[in-house]
Amino acid sequence: MEKTLEDIQTYLCWYNQVYGSDLYIDGELSAVNLAVEPDQQIRAVNLSSSKAQQQIIDQFSPELKQFYDQIHTCQKCDLGKTRKHFVFGAGNPNADIMFIGEAPGRDEDEQGIPFVGRAGKLLDKMLAAIGLHRSDIFIANVLKCRPPQNRDPLPDEILHCEPYLKKQLEIIQPKVLVALGRIAGQVLLKRTDSLSVLRQEPLLYEKTPLIVTYHPAALLRNPQWKQNAWIDLKKIKKIT
Ligand code: SF4
Repeated sequence: MEKTLEDIQTYLCWYNQVYGSDLYIDGELSAVNLAVEPDQQIRAVNLSSSKAQQQIIDQFSPELKQFYDQIHTCQKCDLGKTRKHFVFGAGNPNADIMFIGEAPGRDEDEQGIPFVGRAGKLLDKMLAAIGLHRSDIFIANVLKCRPPQNRDPLPDEILHCEPYLKKQLEIIQPKVLVALGRIAGQVLLKRTDSLSVLRQEPLLYEKTPLIVTYHPAALLRNPQWKQNAWIDLKKIKKIT
């Protein structure tokens, strides 16, 4: 009984950190509970996007910076023609944990920075709930350019862009990977299973432990998944 109460208390603390104390209205989070305290990452976003991007690039290791310089003008697929910004990734170049999403969305394309906007703010809260900050992790996407209207990546786009992600993994050498969303999980694992299947299994990407969980944007749309997301966050905390 004591353990159950402790679990409930821990869950409620996490819920409050991630979703705030406001109620959901029509399945959406209210503007109020998405307001987060300004932190280093968000302050950077508020600078002009090129300044914020430059701040991020300046934090890269020489090898990562050299790789960025090699690929940031890529035109290997049609998304190179429609992007506003190439979104390489951001964070600690020596991170033990790397989060991988699917592709930049509208806000990321505008700013050239991964996971900004509402989903990015939620990700920050999720990280904080397990004692992490953006500066502890590296975050990147499978695709470095935004698919129009945020559609799913096409097979030839993944084919052309995935080697960039592989090279980032080779340079950063994280000890744990977290795939945010079904598509990131499927691409890394070369499987077609649903997210609900992928998130149940202990997985490896090559020899690195991999956890597949919800994309924060999906959690914003489907708050009923928050309890499962908490289970996944606990798994991440346990192995990091
Ligand atoms: S999505 Fe990837 S492969 Fe396509 S243009 Fe952008 S960086 Fe190049």
